[in-house]
Amino acid sequence: MPMTSQTDYPSVVDHQFINNQWVPSAGTRLLDVMNPFREERIAQVTAGDAADVDAAVKAARQAQPAWQALGGNARAKYLEGVADTLEARRDSIITLSATNNGKPLAEAGIDLDDAIACYRYYAGQARGLDARQGELVSVEMEGVEARTYHDPVGVVGLIAPWNFPLVTSAWKLAPALAAGCAAVLKPSEVTPLPERVLAEIALEIGLPAGVLNLLNGDGEGIGAPLTHHADVDKISFTGSNRVGEAVMQAASARTASVSLELGGKSPILVMEDADPAQAADWVMAGIYFNAGQICSATSRLLVHESVAEGLYAALAERMDVLTLGDPLAEGTDLGPLTSAKQRDAVQCYLDIAEQEGLTVVRDEQHRSLPEKGYFLAPTLYRDVPVESRLWKEEIFGPVLCGRSVASEAEAIKLANDSAYGLAATVISGDPERAKRIGRQLKAGSIWYNSEQLVLPETAWGGFKRSGVGRELGPWGLSAYLEVKHVIGPA
Ligand code: NAD
Repeated sequence: MPMTSQTDYPSVVDHQFINNQWVPSAGTRLLDVMNPFREERIAQVTAGDAADVDAAVKAARQAQPAWQALGGNARAKYLEGVADTLEARRDSIITLSATNNGKPLAEAGIDLDDAIACYRYYAGQARGLDARQGELVSVEMEGVEARTYHDPVGVVGLIAPWNFPLVTSAWKLAPALAAGCAAVLKPSEVTPLPERVLAEIALEIGLPAGVLNLLNGDGEGIGAPLTHHADVDKISFTGSNRVGEAVMQAASARTASVSLELGGKSPILVMEDADPAQAADWVMAGIYFNAGQICSATSRLLVHESVAEGLYAALAERMDVLTLGDPLAEGTDLGPLTSAKQRDAVQCYLDIAEQEGLTVVRDEQHRSLPEKGYFLAPTLYRDVPVESRLWKEEIFGPVLCGRSVASEAEAIKLANDSAYGLAATVISGDPERAKRIGRQLKAGSIWYNSEQLVLPETAWGGFKRSGVGRELGPWGLSAYLEVKHVIGPA
């Protein structure tokens, strides 16, 4: 694997992608884009502003009717074109993504491969949509004919976070385009480089002008004007609860539809009949993947008291051999956190843990960190009180909090005792028991004897404060469609 941080990315991007052209941004500020491993600036992008949003929304509005009129079969070909081109550029994209995001190459590969799978899946859904148009509805009233149609919502604003740039944008863009919507996509200002490739691909595959517009900028310059824009029919947002609530408020002023994919504090339940080594592997995968910067990280461990000591010992053993280092180097398990801001936010929780006197199994005392880079040591606390902020709040870093439970009922009760409900994992030697427990958990994705298994065909989204709506599967397509009935005499 290459050991270089060099990319073919231009060092200053002060243009926005609107109507299939790179046009100078109306914004005057530039934002630094960092390599979090080297703590070096690798590029600058425009902060963009409301005039950019206006131009992009106008282009999308103009393009949308013809894109809708093309039909699902024709739109599917473009989605396949996106998938094929991403695949053809795989090596350079994952190097760019790992460099900008700090995730190890293997994880950058997963981000890209899952995005590719999503574009392919929604190509299939676009084709299926044509066949569903005008379906007869069975009605009791005699002499009446009713048919169902699925119209695109229209112009959609898609706002993405930095932790999985390619996949979080694919989960929005692919179904939106499949449905016949025209989009304004705003990547995170922290990781704008991987998604920029999508604009290049739009030109390469000849996507009609205005169907995809991509705006660089931050929340103030682009995010807020996009969510407030009177001519945007829907906002789909993935990110923090704080911003998600602002997005919902902005959309409510014009009764625009919103989908929100927000934070999580997901539990992992290890029952007394679990295979100890396998359980330890899944617990590790659930929290230290992407340095814990995953909305669905299983960051609350509920372990049966009879197997707790063995599990903590097995976890400590595994944590001691994790390799922290260069995301581009082979064998790296954990890269740095993606930004200095995120590293500092997680550090605040480590400071709180110290003040609260939490019991440490592993922390920075147990390993040395690379000299440079926004690294934090993988950390594990046990016997964490349920009142602790570390137990209740999303940390979004490599920090696992554990508690022992005396029974299955207690495990379920504690698992559900959270403001969030994005995901949960159940590990048991008896798969039927694991499934039964899973059915009692309040979360959108329940994994049993597995971890972070997310497939394009299955829905993604949260109960409670983890969000509103679902992405992926047919539900993800419905989020970009309006249902319409045409009814009259038969
Ligand atoms: P964030 O809320 O800070 O930013 C997300 C996006 O919103 C960025 O593009 C940002 O520029 C933009 N934004 C900021 N202020 C805005 C405003 N006022 N109006 C509109 N847009 C604005 O989140 P983040 O730090 O990028 O991502 C981490 C968070 O995302 C975590 O809470 C994580 O759980 C969540 N997340 C959720 C999912 C999911 O599927 N549920 C997936 C990934 C990340």
